[in-house]
Amino acid sequence: MPLIPLVGHHALRQQLTDAIARDSLPASLLLHGPRGVGKQRLALWLGQTLLCTGPDNTARPCGACENCRFAGLLAHPDLRWFFPRPRLESDASASDVLDDLAEELAARASAEGLYAPPSGTEGIYVASVRTLVQLASRTPALAKRKVFVVGDAERMVPQEGAEFAANAFLKLLEEPPADTAIILTTSEPGALLPTIRSRVVSVRVPLLPERDVRELIEMPKFAAALDDTDLPRSVNERVRLAAGAPGTLLGAQSRREAMSTAASLLQAADGSVAPADRVKAVMSVGNSRSRGLFTDALDALTTMLRERARGALGRGDAGAALAAVRSIDAVQEARLRANGNVSPQLLASHLVRELSGRLS
Ligand SMILES: [Zn+2]
Repeated sequence: MPLIPLVGHHALRQQLTDAIARDSLPASLLLHGPRGVGKQRLALWLGQTLLCTGPDNTARPCGACENCRFAGLLAHPDLRWFFPRPRLESDASASDVLDDLAEELAARASAEGLYAPPSGTEGIYVASVRTLVQLASRTPALAKRKVFVVGDAERMVPQEGAEFAANAFLKLLEEPPADTAIILTTSEPGALLPTIRSRVVSVRVPLLPERDVRELIEMPKFAAALDDTDLPRSVNERVRLAAGAPGTLLGAQSRREAMSTAASLLQAADGSVAPADRVKAVMSVGNSRSRGLFTDALDALTTMLRERARGALGRGDAGAALAAVRSIDAVQEARLRANGNVSPQLLASHLVRELSGRLS
């Protein structure tokens, strides 16, 4: 299924197409702005526009040429979309990386480009960076040029032993081959490596006005993506909740699930539930496939414990505040181990024991 059309950002689109027409679009761009305003969708649109070979007298992207059609299906070999993924082995080959991305791209394409934000452990690791650099050195397969979109680029983390790939990427940003454009996106420009930030031209992507948010929320595919959530049914309510960033609604369910898992782990730990419910809380973190959900739950748990510590300090209860702070350490420890191969259930069970020792 083709991606749902890009909604809004008309002024920005005009600026970008004008820059393309003048042949003055910077080869390395950073689209930054609030989460959920459609930065990656805009980047893909820009990529499609750059590859489009529609007739000169039509607006680009034409949507009809071969390049547009492949791009619209996330299947264009010269429009590569990188985004945070679970970590692969650091010596994973380019084909391992592309297979892994292909799986998620197929899921995103069948959801017409609607997806929830990545979980806390997903990142853009060295194997992906190396693959991108390799692909950038090739000649385009189908179009006249190639475009790389890197979503959530602040998740490109420096890794020990990966300096070669990192430097090659920086060099690529600085002087991309003449037929190559690189579009990074981030909602946290402050978290982006300064060495990356200084090599790209920044473009701010604003919140969407209400009428654009409404247009998107009323699309049947968007509504269907929210079907299994406990978001309010009313379009007006959804528009209000989206607050200019409709993409945030897509992540609302997983955020809520993370909060509820965190709350039940905390209850299990502080002894306010029966032992049977304690087991249930541990089981609810699921198997290794739900690792991302588990780490999100741990992040939510950290926030809860921080609030608990603050509340205790406010009441002058230093003992309870200290217990909460020490519990945060245990959660962070579990968070680190969650990146490995240990099952989330085992980690959760160990964590609940640790926390109950510290909190009681
Ligand atoms: Zn076209």
